[in-house]
Amino acid sequence: MMYWYILMVAVLGLVTFLFIKVSRPAGPCLRVLMYHKVSGNGERDFLTVTADQLSHQWKYLKREGYSPILFSDLVKFVRMGTPLPPRPILLTFDDGYKDNFEVMYPILQHLEMKANIFLVPSYLQQQRTASDGTYLDLADIKKMNPSLVEYGLHSYDHKSYKKLSPAEVSEDIRKTGDWLRAEGVPFQPCLAFPYGAYPKKNPLKHKTFIETLNLSGMVLAFRIGNRLNAMPLKKPLLVQRLDIRGDDSFEDFVKLVKKGKAVF
Ligand SMILES: [Zn+2]
Repeated sequence: MMYWYILMVAVLGLVTFLFIKVSRPAGPCLRVLMYHKVSGNGERDFLTVTADQLSHQWKYLKREGYSPILFSDLVKFVRMGTPLPPRPILLTFDDGYKDNFEVMYPILQHLEMKANIFLVPSYLQQQRTASDGTYLDLADIKKMNPSLVEYGLHSYDHKSYKKLSPAEVSEDIRKTGDWLRAEGVPFQPCLAFPYGAYPKKNPLKHKTFIETLNLSGMVLAFRIGNRLNAMPLKKPLLVQRLDIRGDDSFEDFVKLVKKGKAVF
């Protein structure tokens, strides 16, 4: 009876071990964190972390030896194999909120971190006329040190790429790049899909979509997915990001950064 028990425990242990093995890449990984807003007044929700949460999280990343990198570092790695620092981590912010400059940037400078912001031209234009300061304006963008903050594309007006034809996607990327160039905003060939959405289920549509990104000059594109990315990247145009939500606890954050979302 005892032998059966020991055997059962051993088998269960082995199955769990293998399961964990396949659910998480074994070798070096790239972690990409996805943030949106950072509040200076303690407000938090799924899109908003507080300034305190952000400093707490970034101090943890520093203690654990993660090296924040910029889009251009990853572009050079993908294009030419230029090595990345140990435990690379990409901190990304979507939509270009004003607080990225007012609240996040001082924390970033203080903790010597690096961040990457995905911009939406129609939101930047909105900021020219609105006085509420929801989004960054061009002056904010130009004030941030380019060796600490880089920019990528997040579509022209935040339409879901799942709903656009390949021709419309390519036109949208062209228009976004043209606008940023005309306004003198430097950006890397990196794109985050609005809502994390892209043609996924239909194999032909999916293949055409990836080809379209390639032909549009994108070197890296980002979905959500909540997983770590095994290195070297197998799919640089489908990099997974970890969704950092202000209503999650610090323990949730640590768990997500360590392993990504558990498969089971
Ligand atoms: Zn967005």
